[in-house]
Amino acid sequence: MIRIDILIFAENSILLKQDLHIHTTYSSFDGAVVSEQTIKMVAFAKHAEIVGISDHFEMFMPHRWDEYCNEVRKYGFKLGTEVNGHGSVDKAIEYDFDYYVYHCWGQKPEDYIGYEKLNSKGKPVIIAHPYATDTDLRKIPDGGIVELNNRYIWHYDWKKFLLPFVGKFRWVFSSDAHQPNWLNHVICRRVGEELGIKESILF
Ligand SMILES: [Zn+2]
Ligand SMILES: [Zn+2]
Repeated sequence: MIRIDILIFAENSILLKQDLHIHTTYSSFDGAVVSEQTIKMVAFAKHAEIVGISDHFEMFMPHRWDEYCNEVRKYGFKLGTEVNGHGSVDKAIEYDFDYYVYHCWGQKPEDYIGYEKLNSKGKPVIIAHPYATDTDLRKIPDGGIVELNNRYIWHYDWKKFLLPFVGKFRWVFSSDAHQPNWLNHVICRRVGEELGIKESILF
């Protein structure tokens, strides 16, 4: 039986089961985040049942740790971070994140060692968008967690890249949202809900 991970939870809204790759203004330096993409905005969107915030470790740590931690927890979200290769791993495992999203760059042997090291922390480690980082999935052990993300997947020959590995891994679907409208088309629905506007179904 196919498990459906989209739940209709109100007349106006569609709720995803999980989204663990979301950026906010804590990742402002990556150039794609808009100033409105705050943790509060993500909470307002209410687009998934399980939400994790995964801002770029290199962009806000360590000086904003307390602030980040408190804000993510305040909304009941999972506390994640996106780690860009082996260079940040030693620092990242010093902090008590709930999970990691990891860039495992294909041509760098040390990044696969970094992945093992990150896993030794005992928290979920999600291999981020492997088609965008050219991760060699043959080098990732069976049962690893690999992401399909909405931001990049459509740029790639995803069938060719991923089909050989479908049975090898556990998979997660993520938005990799940097802007409210990347979360799903739920913001306008949430606004409609707040205003008491009901959508007219035309066909
Ligand atoms: Zn990424
Ligand atoms: Zn990302």
